Order: sequence, then structure tokens, then C-alpha cells
Amino acid sequence: MRSWKVFEASEVLRQVKEATPEPAGSEVVVSVSHCGLCHSDITLWKGVFDMGDKKVTIDSIGMKHPITLGHEILGTVSAVGPDVTDVKIGDRRLVYPWLGCGECDTCRTGRENLCMQGRPLGMRRPGGFGSHVVVPHSRYLIDTGDLDPALAATYACSGLTAYSAIRKAMPASPDEAIVVVGAGGLGLSGIVILKAFGHENIVVVDVSEDKLETAVKAGAHKTVLSTGDDVTKKIVETAGRPVRTIIDFVNNSQTAAFSFPALARGGRIIMVGMFGGQITVPTMRMAQGGLSLIGSITGTLQELRDLVELAKRGKLDAIPYEAVPKTSINDAMDRLRRGAVKGRIVLQEEIA
Ligand SMILES: [Zn+2]
Ligand SMILES: [Zn+2]
Repeated sequence: MRSWKVFEASEVLRQVKEATPEPAGSEVVVSVSHCGLCHSDITLWKGVFDMGDKKVTIDSIGMKHPITLGHEILGTVSAVGPDVTDVKIGDRRLVYPWLGCGECDTCRTGRENLCMQGRPLGMRRPGGFGSHVVVPHSRYLIDTGDLDPALAATYACSGLTAYSAIRKAMPASPDEAIVVVGAGGLGLSGIVILKAFGHENIVVVDVSEDKLETAVKAGAHKTVLSTGDDVTKKIVETAGRPVRTIIDFVNNSQTAAFSFPALARGGRIIMVGMFGGQITVPTMRMAQGGLSLIGSITGTLQELRDLVELAKRGKLDAIPYEAVPKTSINDAMDRLRRGAVKGRIVLQEEIA
């Protein structure tokens, strides 16, 4: 097999040839036909997380180079371990990458994405930036049927992340304003999922007129340009009242600062973006307002199954993506890093 690995932080990925792994026990080897490129790949490549009050390097949390990134993986089963009975060679599957230890209470209640000992693919286990990936159990594989495989690959992270955040916003009356902050890839996924849920009052906030225009095309009902210092007022005016639900796909110091005062009593901010930052929260207003700040990271295996089901029922509009050959991975990483990408980049196995 071949893969593209990060040997040193912020250095170009190097192509490596090695033996294709043989699956043992319940393992499944998937030949990767598509792998989406995510902002987290750029962060891991750089090797530093911005935690708001400090920076944390990936070495300090025990991640060792070389790393094979890539967690939006779709492909066909190429080998199965002796204990595997429910998939066979040639089956096309989407891979759930947010693997936990499988044994703790968090994992046993179906929230492997929150496991303290989590070993996600493309982070603590080799991911999809290569020809093959080892999946420890077939339960992490989801049949995507006739869905566009490049688009379906993106469901494993960007789609799932948006879906899990939207689920936390439910139930909501269709005509109640739900504010979506950020109209990048995640925000657009959020809009199409809200639409699929039948939501009819989506207010999108972004610093870019261009992105707001794209958001309207994707189904946003109202928009707020988040420049200037009266953004809170503009949000409340556009929504018609203080809001109960804000989903923040940017989640930096600025967006948190203008979102918090826009909350109605009982309101909540679902914090999803990983741009880093912090806010000071008035504790009295939290209690008196019955407010919640809810963090949301990726999603559960069941949520990914539900999202794929929603897509199979034809409910989900496509988000824009661009398929590029795997061999141009370094160029694709560079473009994503510079922000020169509309929607998602999906690496694709070259057609022979
Ligand atoms: Zn991701
Ligand atoms: Zn666990």
C-alpha cells in the first residue's frame, strides 16, 4: 500500500510504500476510493491546537509522527479478518472514524466520539490519506447505497459534525429562528440539514457578503453581516426577538461575544467551531436566564447512520465539493490552508 504521511509538523507530506496490512480477528481493510480534506487535518499537520488561553502541541498529548491523516473515508472492503461475517470483499462502505476504546461507559452508551481513550482514524490510528485503511470492526462501516461516494465521504466528519449539532437544537418549531454562525463548509451543511428537518426560519451570520449569498442559495431564510460592533442587535432584530438557539460553527472570541447577549431566556449556544478563543460568562445571567453553553464535537456512530439514512431518502441537498486526485494531496492541503477552497476537497483514487 502507499500512504502520504506527516513526518514533521508543517512539512510536505511524504509518500510511503509499505506492505498492505493483513486483517486479524474482527478487522476489515478498506481500499480507500475517497477521502475528504478537513480543517482538522491542517491543524494536525501544523501540530498545534489553539485552546484560547494556551497552545497545545500534538506531541504533548501523545501523538507521534509519522501520522497518516484523513478521517472522511469511503472505499471498498479489500480484506476481512476471520471473525468478520457482515461485510465481504468488494462492498462499498463509509467509515465511521471516531473510534473509542469500546469498553468505558461513554463507549458502551454509544458515544465513542467522547471516549477519553479515543483513537480516531486519521489521528491516533492511520487514516485515509493512503490506499488502504484498517478498521477494527465492521460495525464502523455504513452502506451508502447509491449515494455519490465523494459527497458521502464528507458525511463522516463535516456532515456528521453539523448533523450532531443540529440534533442538539431539536426539537424546535419550524418557524422559530435558529441562528447559524458561519457559512463555510460546516455552516452550509448545517443549513441543508436544518432544511431536511423541515426548518423554515434559518438566520445565517457571517463576516463575508459572498458567503452569505452562498448561504441563501443553500436555503438560509435571513442573513446578518457580522461586521461592525452592533452584531448582537442585528441578530436580535433579524430574528425578531432574542433567540433560543444559536449554532456557532466558528466559535471564536468574536462570535461567542456577539452571540451570548443575543440569547433569550432558556437559550443555548451550541459551540462547534474550532477556531479557538474564549469568553467571560456572567454566572448570574447563566442561572437567571436558564442558559446553556453546549459543546458539540463530531457525532456518534448512530448519528452517522441516521445522517446517511436521511441522505438516502433524498432529503439532503448536496454541499459543494471538488474531487482531486490523491497524488495532488500537498497542493490540496496548501489550498485549504490558504482558504482558497469553496466547499470541500475530496481526494479520489485516480481512475486507471
Ligand atoms: Zn474533520
Ligand atoms: Zn471508551
